[in-house]
Amino acid sequence: MKNTVEIDIAIIGGGIAGLWLLNRLRQLGLSVILLESKALGAGQTNKSQGIIHGGAKYALQGLLTSASQAVSEMPQVWNDCLKGKGILDLSSVPILSHHQYLWSTGSLASKVAGFFSGMALKGNVRELSRDAYPEIFRNAQFKGQVYSLEEVVLDVHAVTRELVKPNQDVIFKIDQPQDYQIKFDANGRLTSLEIQAEPIEPIQVKAKKYIFAAGAGNEELLSPLKSHGITMQRRALHMVLVKTPFNYPLFAHCLGLGATPRITITTHYTHDGQPVWYMGGQIAEEGVRRDSKEQIQVARKELQELFPWLDFTAAEFATFFVDRAEPLQESGKRPDTCYVKEVENVIAAWPTKLALAPRLADEIAASLQRENINPHAADLRSMRAWPIPALAKPVWDELL
Ligand code: FAD
Repeated sequence: MKNTVEIDIAIIGGGIAGLWLLNRLRQLGLSVILLESKALGAGQTNKSQGIIHGGAKYALQGLLTSASQAVSEMPQVWNDCLKGKGILDLSSVPILSHHQYLWSTGSLASKVAGFFSGMALKGNVRELSRDAYPEIFRNAQFKGQVYSLEEVVLDVHAVTRELVKPNQDVIFKIDQPQDYQIKFDANGRLTSLEIQAEPIEPIQVKAKKYIFAAGAGNEELLSPLKSHGITMQRRALHMVLVKTPFNYPLFAHCLGLGATPRITITTHYTHDGQPVWYMGGQIAEEGVRRDSKEQIQVARKELQELFPWLDFTAAEFATFFVDRAEPLQESGKRPDTCYVKEVENVIAAWPTKLALAPRLADEIAASLQRENINPHAADLRSMRAWPIPALAKPVWDELL
């Protein structure tokens, strides 16, 4: 006879969405397990730049979209957690930077200044005097303008670790996505979830709700629910890593003419302490048409143009492609906020931004509370033999 685990909630996927949710739902007294097929954070989460957006980035060029409104509460929620006074305790997570800089090149300075005078009134963005510039911009060759934006940048690897720590007893590794046998009925109800991994006995997971928070993995897992309106889109990025021969800890967006920053740089350190600039923004969006060699050439040229006073000759470059996995939008563009869709006993979830994970979890928790799911303690003895997934390594430690 097959082993059966009866549980309130089964979460598939151990990125920021699944892990934040796991913590929140256990707080409500629900019995929860989380199944992860690679390493915890191995999808988009450990490739994220760790920026807790409050919407100012989206308001570039004066466009205050609904996206910027949806994320505007997130910095406060995260800051409370980072101080140990929030819904989750993240007080031991290092803050890589308390603010980000926005900078314009000389030719755009006046255009950008006009826009930011409006923003500055809201207290989001502060124009800096030259003597308050970060060291990297205190060079006679820098002709632009620098603004400070009060939004934190986090060590995402540490966030993942903190979310995992209290939950190691309920997180299990599934070796292959094929290790699942999932059946849905015609109404979209999940009727059977069986997991198997030789030589461990197969286990039938019986949950009151199954939450799919598997990022890009949701596409395959939820393909039977397409007719119920759950469809995913991918927006690709070609990110660049640069191990710099100098140490300027930079967290900054270079403003271009479009709504996406020309380049967004965050600074991280490899396990042996080497500084790495991690670069996204327009260069990563447009870079999907380039191979790695071309992308590195473009990145070198861009950096030399933006920082002519620095020498990148000895810098070591690496690039990689990654998809942002999101609910399908008619426009094909970024969704405005997180996505939660419930079909029968299945919930599909995409946070669409790391910063929005708390909001995603709140929406799901509220929906479960409305349904009055009575918490019951689970007996997980039959899962004792299942391995625990490792934490994913930061991407700069994998590639540089
Ligand atoms: P993921 O992090 O992709 O996690 C999904 C997990 O599910 C993975 O661990 C995966 O291994 C697992 N999985 C997949 N298939 C299965 C399966 N069949 N069974 C079990 N497990 C499975 N957002 C911000 O707010 N700020 C930023 O600075 C930022 N920077 C970003 C930079 C990049 C390059 C990218 C790609 C995204 C960035 N984002 C940022 C967006 C943010 O990273 C994502 O929205 C968020 O990490 C998505 O989290 P997730 O948990 O839904 O998915």
